[in-house]
Amino acid sequence: MTPFDTLSRLGGDEFGILLENITDINSATSIAQELLQKLSVAFKLSRYEVFMTASIGINWGSIDYEKPEYLLRDADTAMHRAKSLGKARYHVFDPGMYKEAIQLLQLENDLRKAVERQEFLVYYQPIISLSTGKIISLEALVRWQHPTRGLVSPIEFIPVSEEIGLINEINLWVLQEACETITNWSHKKLVEESLSISVNFSAKLFYQTDLITNVNRIINQNNINSCNLKIEITESVIMENYRDIRNVLSHFQNLNIPLIMDDFGTGYSSLSYLHSFPFNALKIDKSFVRRMQDNQENMGLVPAMISIAHSMGMTAIAEGVETPEQLAQLRCLNCDYAQGYLFSHPLSKELMIDLLSTSPQW
Ligand code: C2E
Ligand code: MG
Ligand code: MG
Repeated sequence: MTPFDTLSRLGGDEFGILLENITDINSATSIAQELLQKLSVAFKLSRYEVFMTASIGINWGSIDYEKPEYLLRDADTAMHRAKSLGKARYHVFDPGMYKEAIQLLQLENDLRKAVERQEFLVYYQPIISLSTGKIISLEALVRWQHPTRGLVSPIEFIPVSEEIGLINEINLWVLQEACETITNWSHKKLVEESLSISVNFSAKLFYQTDLITNVNRIINQNNINSCNLKIEITESVIMENYRDIRNVLSHFQNLNIPLIMDDFGTGYSSLSYLHSFPFNALKIDKSFVRRMQDNQENMGLVPAMISIAHSMGMTAIAEGVETPEQLAQLRCLNCDYAQGYLFSHPLSKELMIDLLSTSPQW
C-alpha cells in the first residue's frame, strides 16, 4: 500500500481499503494476498496466542457507478462470496454476482411468503428391509410448491431457510405433516402399524431451546408411538458442535425415538466421536453406493461402513440404490435396509398410498 491509499473502519469487524491510481487488478489482488499472509501469523494477546483470518472482497471501481455506496455494496458481495468459499481468502467481484445476489434476495422474500401461505409439500420415499424385501419405513422429504417455478428442491431452499431463520418453522411443519399422515393411514388401516417415518432435522433446530417440547407436543397430538418416528441428522453438522447436539440427541434417546446418522461418510467423523452418540443406524451416503460398481473387487468403502455400523450395534441403511446389481451386492454384505430410485422415487402422499396398497416386495 502507498501513502495515497485509505484505510477505514466501516463498522464492527469490517474495514475498507481504497486503492487509488492502480492500473490493473493484479495490484489489488497482491495487496490482498499480502494482507492475508500478514494476518495469518499468530500474535500475542496478553498470555494467549491468537490467530486471525480475514475474508476480502475486491471491487474494481468504474465511472459507471452512480454512487460510492454501490461500489462498497459490490465489494461487500464479493467479501461474502470469499467467506462462503471458505474464509481466509479474497474474491473479486463480477457483475454476475450482483444478479445472483438479487436472485437470492428474491428467493428469501418468496420463502417468507411461502411460510405464510403454506406452500410446502411432503413427499415420501420407501425404505426397504433387505431381509424381507418389504417397505418398513418412509422418509419424509420436503418440497416447495412455488407459485411460478413449480416444485423447488430442498437442496435449494433448506440452506437459505436456515440462514434467514425460517428452518424451525418449516421443519416442525414437516414433522407435524408426516406424523399426521402416518397416523391417518394407520387409523384407516391402510398401512401396517409397524410402518415408521423418518424426518430430517436441520442442525439449526438443535439450538432451539423448545425443540424437545415441540417434538413431544407433535408426537402426543398425533398419538404416534415414538418408536414409529425416526430422526435423521446429517453427519457433517454433528461434528460442528458435537457437545450441544449430543445433549439434545440423548433427550430423543430418552423419548425412545430412533436416531439415524444421514449421509454417513461425508462428514469425516472420527470413530471415537461416533461411539459417544446414541445413533441407532448409519445411512451410507449415496456417493459410496454409486462407487460400489466401479470397484468390483472390494466394493469400495461400503463393506467397511456396514461393518462399522454392526460392530457398534447399529443397523446400516444404503441410500441411492439405483440398480439391481447394487441391491444384490448390498444383500451379500448383510446391509439391513436400502432406499433409492430402484424401489421408488419420493412420491406424493396419494401416490405413496397407491404404492403401499400393492404391498410391493423386492
Ligand atoms: P437426504 O436426507 O440425504 O435425502 C436423500 C436425497 O436423495 C433425497 O433428495 C432423495 O430424493 C434423493 N434420492 C433418493 N434416492 C435416490 C437415488 O436412488 N439416487 C439419487 N441420485 N438420489 C436419490 P431430496 O428430496 O432432493 O432431498 C435433499 C436433501 O434435502 C435431503 O437429503 C435432506 O438433507 C434435505 N431435506 C429434505 N427434506 C428435509 C426436511 O424436511 N428438513 C430438513 N432439514 N432437510 C430436508
Ligand atoms: Mg435423510
Ligand atoms: Mg442422505
